Amino acid sequence: MSDYDYDLFVIGAGSGGVRAARFSANYGARVAIAEDMFMGGTCVNVGCIPKKLFVYAAHFHDDFADSAAFGWTAEAKGFDWRTLVDNKDTEIKRLNGIYERLLENAGVEIVTGRATVVDPHTVAVAGTQYSTANILVATGSWPVVPDIPGREHVVTSTEAFYLDELPKRAIIVGGGYIAVEFAGIFNGIGVDTTLMYRGPLFMRGFDQDVRSHLAGEVDKAGVDLRFSTNIAAVEKTPSGLVATCEDGAKVETDLIMYATGRAPKVDGLGLEEAGVKLGDDGAIIVDDHFKSSVDSIYAIGDVIGHMQLTPVALAEGMAVARTLFGNEPTKADYDYVATAVFSQPPVGTVGLTEEEARERHGDVAIFRSTFRPLKHTLTGRDAQTMMKMIVDKKTDRVLGVHMVGDDAGEILQGIAVALKAGATKAVFDSTIGIHPTAAEEFVTMREPVPDPVAEAAE
Ligand code: FAD
Repeated sequence: MSDYDYDLFVIGAGSGGVRAARFSANYGARVAIAEDMFMGGTCVNVGCIPKKLFVYAAHFHDDFADSAAFGWTAEAKGFDWRTLVDNKDTEIKRLNGIYERLLENAGVEIVTGRATVVDPHTVAVAGTQYSTANILVATGSWPVVPDIPGREHVVTSTEAFYLDELPKRAIIVGGGYIAVEFAGIFNGIGVDTTLMYRGPLFMRGFDQDVRSHLAGEVDKAGVDLRFSTNIAAVEKTPSGLVATCEDGAKVETDLIMYATGRAPKVDGLGLEEAGVKLGDDGAIIVDDHFKSSVDSIYAIGDVIGHMQLTPVALAEGMAVARTLFGNEPTKADYDYVATAVFSQPPVGTVGLTEEEARERHGDVAIFRSTFRPLKHTLTGRDAQTMMKMIVDKKTDRVLGVHMVGDDAGEILQGIAVALKAGATKAVFDSTIGIHPTAAEEFVTMREPVPDPVAEAAE
């Protein structure tokens, strides 16, 4: 035990901060946590959870229509945005309470207010100073909106969760997963939706086949996809908003939501004054054990700018607790982190993209399958699922698995375990499938697609 008020003072009660605080306290450390906005952080309040609830809402549109092919007489008579938002808010309040109780039951002191770092062993909140052996910065990230004329008229995902009214028309700006997910949500609940992205194809960093297949499906679902398009200015008019694009085109709409990236939340924290080094993007630079350039200050989660995902922040929070108080120096293991995009249809992915695999391993075999899901043989809906596996020809190890189609996130979680265990293609091939499922396709892909690299060399 130190002479300080606390052994650990955590700034930010989000995914990473709460995990680190709870487990540190469980190890016997005296812990305080400061939060200035919402218990549970981004994921619980304006991220994963409300987003997924909205995705469920968006699905019913197609489900009502599809049910007719299975004998049902159902008609979607309307959609009430207020009901969705109110029910979502009620659920979030419940989760806020759960997070608070988890912390209290672990013996963590909750300090309400905006925290700043005074020096390497002192944190100030609302005029009170707290001394601490260690500080953990887990302040997350915040949406970035480019500095264009009229930016005051646009919203980000944060506000989109609380809109007073559902717009008739919306433009989503961005090409990452948040933009694609919100385009699917708005489109599904009946908003005339346009997605604008300045690059030639959205979802940069994902496998090329995933990107192009998803673009085809999102287009078929009715989202107006405009790639290589960027907004130069936004104007408010009596009938809504007008976006003027860089090529001069004007698009009328009721809502413009920017999802063009998130910056680490470090403004006004006092970090640099305390000697903490930040990267060019503002992220806190940490070593393998999440220690910053100042010995007593650690950082985890979105604010270190690695992989901005809740399970990653949780793993990093756990690693800090073990390292500082569990007598077990721990790094986070970033190998084979599976992710899902809750677009419509969803994407699931784990391991390397084809492009990365070719670059790192050279000789790879690609297995790919595109098919109409069984459900839609009756509905007639023109929906196609795409599955892809990338295999190292030298070792037979499966390097990457990707899917665009219903339940992709659920399916890929299990596949991630197999890849982490080092599964080879032979292991997949010898696994008996579950029939009839889409997932069984992953254990029945026998023939690789023709190798474009080898063909070009012939
Ligand atoms: P956060 O959860 O953001 O927590 C930081 C906390 O610190 C906040 O509560 C903040 O109020 C508080 N804080 C900041 N500064 C101070 C201060 N000075 N004093 C006191 N408190 C402070 N991830 C997934 O894995 N799956 C998903 O499906 C997914 N969907 C997402 C959808 C959206 C729209 C968004 C925006 C994010 C999504 N994410 C998703 C990402 C995920 O929410 C984040 O990666 C995760 O919340 C990061 O956790 P964190 O602990 O680093 O920060």
